[in-house]
Amino acid sequence: MAKHTVSNETRVSTALEFESLEYTIGDRTLFGDLGLRLTVGESVAVMGPSGSGKSTLISCALGLVSPQGVVRVAGSDITRMRRRELARHRGAHTGVVFQFGELLPELTPVENVALAGLLSGASRGEAYEDARTLLTELGVPTAARSTGTLSGGERQRTAVARALINKPVLLLADEPTGALDDANRDSVADLLFQVPSRWECGLLVVTHDEQVANRADRVLRLVDGGLRTRSTV
Ligand code: ADP
Ligand code: MG
Repeated sequence: MAKHTVSNETRVSTALEFESLEYTIGDRTLFGDLGLRLTVGESVAVMGPSGSGKSTLISCALGLVSPQGVVRVAGSDITRMRRRELARHRGAHTGVVFQFGELLPELTPVENVALAGLLSGASRGEAYEDARTLLTELGVPTAARSTGTLSGGERQRTAVARALINKPVLLLADEPTGALDDANRDSVADLLFQVPSRWECGLLVVTHDEQVANRADRVLRLVDGGLRTRSTV
């Protein structure tokens, strides 16, 4: 049986935890004693101007950089994992959406989404069926021959489907609507913030767009290396 079914049965309630996170680039302390706890079903938006460390925070949650402190994803500290274990853990528990979707243009939307399932060990039949189901649920035409014929909004919906195909406990999004016009931004943001309750995961969105952030259950700001609730700024 596919392993994501198993991980579903042993689902944890905390999707992501940063504990005493410290990260320095050169002589600049990007994060100093930063903490965050994100539960399954919850959405958190982290805001900050360009250069404040939003993308680096996403990199910490993905295990792409090595900060001091604890980064717990689905109950396990990923800072202690070796490369292979980390890759497996990330594939099983974490989905991510970037600003420009980062789809493979040679593949159809269905293939883009199914590939992520195949890489995590799903069978071909299962991956393609799940991809079609997800794309339909997210409002993307599954008959599209190429991602190039999709609108910007449909491309980001495809990126969301790809991020969800392995039933992650944690969904990360880095400026997910940054490349969209206002109408598409609103529809993609609406969809994204439905994800935690529809697909039972925690959602961390980093954005400089107040209108997007306002849809989250909690809005935090990166200030002086830590996360502050908006009302205190
Ligand atoms: P944001 O996403 O909020 O715009 P980033 O997390 O991309 O911010 O970057 C935060 C700061 O860290 C910026 O000053 C950026 O120049 C710097 N930075 C990010 N990645 C690197 C890197 N690999 N090497 C050097 N500096 C970096
Ligand atoms: Mg960024």
